[in-house]
Amino acid sequence: MATAAVQAGSDVTHIDVLIVGAGISGIGSAYHLQEQCPQRSYAILEMKDTFGGTWETHKYPGVRSDSDLYTFGYRFKPWVGTPIASADEILKYMGEVIEENGIAPHIRYGHRITKASWDSKTNLWTVEASTRDGASHIFTCNFLWMCQGYYDHEKPYMPDWPGTERYKGQLVHAQLWDPKTDYTGKKILVIGSGATAATVIPAFAEKAAHVTMLQRSPTYFYCSENKNELADKLRAGGIDEPTIHRVVRAQIMHDQDVMTKRCIDEPDAVFEDLKALVRAFTGKEDFPFEPHFTPKYRPWQQRLAFCPEGDIFRAVVEGKVSAVTDELETFTETGVRTKGGVEIEADIIVAATGFNLLMMGGIPFEVDGQPVDWHETINYRGMMFTGVPNMVWVMGYFRASWTLRVDMLGDFVCNLLNHMDQKGAKRVEVALREEDHNMPLGDWIENDNFNPSYLMRGLKHMPKRGDKPEWRHNQDYWAERGEIPKTDLEGSEFLYDGVRAGKKVTEAA
Ligand SMILES: Cc1cc2nc3c(=O)[nH]c(=O)nc-3n(C[C@H](O)[C@H](O)[C@H](O)COP(=O)(O)OP(=O)(O)OC[C@H]3O[C@@H](n4cnc5c(N)ncnc54)[C@H](O)[C@@H]3O)c2cc1C
Repeated sequence: MATAAVQAGSDVTHIDVLIVGAGISGIGSAYHLQEQCPQRSYAILEMKDTFGGTWETHKYPGVRSDSDLYTFGYRFKPWVGTPIASADEILKYMGEVIEENGIAPHIRYGHRITKASWDSKTNLWTVEASTRDGASHIFTCNFLWMCQGYYDHEKPYMPDWPGTERYKGQLVHAQLWDPKTDYTGKKILVIGSGATAATVIPAFAEKAAHVTMLQRSPTYFYCSENKNELADKLRAGGIDEPTIHRVVRAQIMHDQDVMTKRCIDEPDAVFEDLKALVRAFTGKEDFPFEPHFTPKYRPWQQRLAFCPEGDIFRAVVEGKVSAVTDELETFTETGVRTKGGVEIEADIIVAATGFNLLMMGGIPFEVDGQPVDWHETINYRGMMFTGVPNMVWVMGYFRASWTLRVDMLGDFVCNLLNHMDQKGAKRVEVALREEDHNMPLGDWIENDNFNPSYLMRGLKHMPKRGDKPEWRHNQDYWAERGEIPKTDLEGSEFLYDGVRAGKKVTEAA
């Protein structure tokens, strides 16, 4: 199946592997493909005019990672900055990866994929993309590597609030923030309390007259200095950067593992520790956690919002930021009124209300002329789908760094492609095994595992999950790092060229 990129007609380009999206997943996947399957041609199709995905889309003040870059960075490229990085620093890092590995010539920017169709007669995907000039471009490929992220980059989630037409100030969603907006001396209201709010509120507070956070319910915050002592010590000792990267990643992953288990086993003790950090960073022993900073869910059911140097809490103590925990009733001419009757005046209202989940970048898929309804498919380990051949989807972790899974799936896909070469197979797919029939199927993720609103709103578009490790994305890096590299590619959940793999061949597809 290895062929060089060829023109299979004047307007059809054939490529072995087509990667969708030049975000952190797409660039990482390209690196692994080049390294581990150098015989395959590939291209990345990206609808934007540049790389970066999430880190290019979001331009609100202070935009930064929530994860440390030792684990959010790739395993193959040491991170040398502070653990929490700005979007610009992440883009610079990605730019270096592209440059150092000669990935740039493979990326086709400004290509919005509008359709993907699989044909079992040719064992090829046909992918249609449009460019801004209105031209349509057709690609065929043997394998699709879907790295398009999980949310709509163009239409963020904006609740249908009453009275917005009355409001005389500026209402903007954080995802659509124009960095040229001058907010010096302005009264700002941020609606929302998740990671975006945690980032943008202290950043606004530096120049704004005042910032109010209106939240329906509070979030857990994890305050910490933006440094890693182990990395600093190793650097001072002259240890080389690749070793520092490896060691610090291992240390952070271990610490996160301990933290995740503690959140489940002793959530109250964890909350006490989080509160102690707030007291330490603000110097305020009697910092009032009730009612605005005492969440209703257990820690880790949603991402902990990182809070470098306790910035949001320090801004609260300094009087630059205040919180209101209530539901919005209506917009008014000058701001909003809550159901509890609180009037909040604001020159600028920023909705930090999250995403609209978008399955497969909104691309319509067909298999042999039949539209794919993702909700009717069953998801193999959060990466392949029953009934959809030659395709892998990169969906990272919510609790651990996303990129850990990009590296892990990079190895998996390359092993799979090389295995197909060895077998001479042109088509691979997953299918339920005998023992999986009658397996209970559920929503893609359990509501009590991880339940941010965008995911709950979008579950109806997501694939189904079974109750066995093979048929779920368990969001558990620590389990998967043992299981996924050991995947038996001859396991009977795999079908090659329509024939079930495995020693005991019980049925053909
Ligand atoms: C503000 C913010 C902060 C975050 N911080 C963290 C963090 O600290 N740690 C963490 O683990 N996760 C974080 N996340 C989650 C984050 O989205 C992922 O970690 C990661 O960046 C996703 O990368 P990706 O490449 O998979 O997808 P994206 O970054 O979404 O990139 C997908 C790319 O695919 C392109 N694309 C989509 N559809 C099409 C199409 N039809 N045709 C062509 N191209 C298409 C898009 O233009 C985009 O460039 C954060 C998310 C946000 C929004």
